[in-house]
Amino acid sequence: PGWEKRVKSSAKIRSPNGLSVLVTGAAGFVGTHVSAALKRRGDGVLGLDNFNNYYDPSLKRARQDLLERSGIFIVEGDINDVVLLKKLFEVVSFTHVMHLAAQAGVRYAMENPNSYVHSNIAGLVNVLEVCKNANPQPAIVWASSSSVYGLNTKIPFSEKDRTDQPASLYAATKKAGEEIAHTYNHIYGLSLTGLRFFTVYGPWGRPDMAYFFFTRDILKGKSISIFEGANHGTVARDFTYIDDIVKGCLGALDTAEKSTGSGGKKKGNAQLRVFNLGNTSPVPVSDLVSILERLLKVKAKRMVMKLPRNGDVPFTHANISYAQREFGYKPTTDLQTGLKKFVKWYLSYYGSGKKNDH
Ligand code: NAD
Repeated sequence: PGWEKRVKSSAKIRSPNGLSVLVTGAAGFVGTHVSAALKRRGDGVLGLDNFNNYYDPSLKRARQDLLERSGIFIVEGDINDVVLLKKLFEVVSFTHVMHLAAQAGVRYAMENPNSYVHSNIAGLVNVLEVCKNANPQPAIVWASSSSVYGLNTKIPFSEKDRTDQPASLYAATKKAGEEIAHTYNHIYGLSLTGLRFFTVYGPWGRPDMAYFFFTRDILKGKSISIFEGANHGTVARDFTYIDDIVKGCLGALDTAEKSTGSGGKKKGNAQLRVFNLGNTSPVPVSDLVSILERLLKVKAKRMVMKLPRNGDVPFTHANISYAQREFGYKPTTDLQTGLKKFVKWYLSYYGSGKKNDH
């Protein structure tokens, strides 16, 4: 009963016309920020996360503490636990699901391919199955990735571009997720919105991402490796600040139409949309390092590698006009400004000394 009470209280809508949202991956980087933003505007939010140790679980616990202080409860469990998922839908009539739980990272897939299949394919199917059988069926917004563009060389990347050349297993599972979403929309009338995030960064970020461990290594005086391809500065990313991504997530949730099926039966034409959420201004990875050096006031020991690594794509660059048209998505934070906020958070969280062992 204590558990049910916490679940209900966390998911309770506190503003007129508010949403009741199940956020999977709520202890993750994007999940934490999206959950907090939803709660701030009066929506009900329940988190679900398995707190896996892909990266420092203590950072996930610290994010959980942050969310708990604003009344958000994160249920500890796996999206593959169908009994648990069903139980959550028995206790709460979610209007929306923000599905962010996934195995992220490109290189980890070389040693752990099955964790990508487990979370990004099997886990997604379980979430959709439970949503399909829920009554009412929630609208679903889920995280895809810019990685689906793979070896596409047409820039900027538009949602209509080809996505049949994934360069990593991570990308392949994200692409598979989009196909699976299509099926659930088509057969069962689920309303589905996919968001292709482009290299998200910011406070409470992910320690496995380059900007994060570059910061640690610059501060520690360790040399950092920059894989910049055959020509100087040709490896670039469309770094997108977390607050801009959060605005995009909320815009997608707010414009998501209702599912048209009920109890697994399709009744009408439900919505299926896929949007790029990027920044539209790619920055070479070597410039990322220069900005960090300036902000940290420390010169990096750079090791420049000419060969790209397996699974990496040379560049990403989003065309965001579709999201702009549909829900006014407009990123406003440039890399310099966003990294300044990240560095401020990093120094307050880890300090500049030896504690930063993430
Ligand atoms: P993250 O790893 O910080 O968050 C994911 C969370 O999901 C983690 O807290 C993890 O513990 C949880 N999780 C993983 N597998 C789970 C499972 N089977 N059951 C329950 N919980 C599970 O990653 P993030 O950066 O916040 O990414 C959020 C989403 O956005 C992911 O789907 C990711 O693939 C996607 N994405 C992120 C970026 C980015 O740059 N951060 C870019 C493109 C796409």
